[in-house]
Amino acid sequence: MARLVKKFGGTSVGDIDRIRSVARRVKKAFEEGHEVAVVLSAMSGTTNQLVGYAREAAALHDAREYDTIVAAGEQITIGLLSICLQEMGVPARSFLGWQVPIRTNDMHGAARIAEIEPENLEKCFKDGRVAVIAGFQGIGPDNRIATLGRGGSDTSAVAIAAAVKADRCDIYTDVDGVYTTDPRIVPKARKMDKITYEEMLEMASLGTKVLQTRSVALAMKHGVRTQVLSSFEDKPGTLVVGEDEIVEQEVVSGIAYSRGEAKITVVGLKDRPGTVSHVFAPLAKANINIDMIVQSAADDNRTDVTFTVPEDDMLRAVKALEERRDEVRFDHLLHDGSVAKISVVGVGMRSHAGVAQKMFDTLADKGINVQVISTSEIKVSVVIDDEYTELAVRALHTAYDLDVD
Ligand code: ASP
Ligand code: MG
Repeated sequence: MARLVKKFGGTSVGDIDRIRSVARRVKKAFEEGHEVAVVLSAMSGTTNQLVGYAREAAALHDAREYDTIVAAGEQITIGLLSICLQEMGVPARSFLGWQVPIRTNDMHGAARIAEIEPENLEKCFKDGRVAVIAGFQGIGPDNRIATLGRGGSDTSAVAIAAAVKADRCDIYTDVDGVYTTDPRIVPKARKMDKITYEEMLEMASLGTKVLQTRSVALAMKHGVRTQVLSSFEDKPGTLVVGEDEIVEQEVVSGIAYSRGEAKITVVGLKDRPGTVSHVFAPLAKANINIDMIVQSAADDNRTDVTFTVPEDDMLRAVKALEERRDEVRFDHLLHDGSVAKISVVGVGMRSHAGVAQKMFDTLADKGINVQVISTSEIKVSVVIDDEYTELAVRALHTAYDLDVD
């Protein structure tokens, strides 16, 4: 007998039929003798609609009332699932965030979970009932409903799994697992049986949208074994686990890409202490996230700095720099929104040489120019012309032996 947390996303609870099939899945686990807590999202589209209503009522609005509105979708699905379970003879009850309680900080709209008191859930397990919990919400220190930010129910599920010391957290979604790369680009992409927390964290933050990045960080912190699997098929998905659970580690586990990147070059800076600090100060002030940075070798005491930002922030970044031209002291700016970032990820590269070299060779072979490079212990990323994204991802997938036959 195990203790399991099962989370179902918006498409899995999109209508009553689907909620019934979720109930059948939960019933099966319950009848196998497991203790089950279920975490739900709102029906797909509902939260968007609620956010729309809040914005329509007033463009600038009280964040506490925003939370009251947008948390409503989950209240509906947990009630419906509880009824469907009861109909099937499975004792179940719903819990809103405050009823658990899931305590958060006071950042309404983007709250973080501070603490989950497990007693009520423990009692539910002990009474032989299934706990059906609203994802995405908790209660703030002000005693008001607080939501965790969009996609936050993954984080709710992992946090609950950590709080009740669950044996596993199953995240049911509309894909059947985590792939070595995007199967829409590479039909030979392979579903992974296991992936480490570190790798999943990189893949998630690099654009693999299977799990909310925050939920992966939380799973890693608390060592929650997390499984990503399909809610429409009956087969195992991908387990996200610690490195010790992976027997034979590949050097490279996956290729990630992100197209929404932009590159900015500040040309003709003075090469002296404080220069880069002047470049990035206005950007930090404008709340713009910088990703990769390179500074070219100084020539004649002049240097260029190139960096990447999310494409949506490119023009704001350019404007922030132009406005501070007198302090930053540069010659001119170049910007390019049609770039993509391609990354190879794998914890195995910690102990293997030549991973970056293989990447550069492969791209060179295809005539793809590398514009910016950055590396970490378990990742090599490059910026290339967006036009070559598919070609690069496919070539790298083959080069690192990831293709299925
Ligand atoms: N319903 C919320 C959203 O759409 C939370 C979630 O689905 O994870 O963002
Ligand atoms: Mg989601």
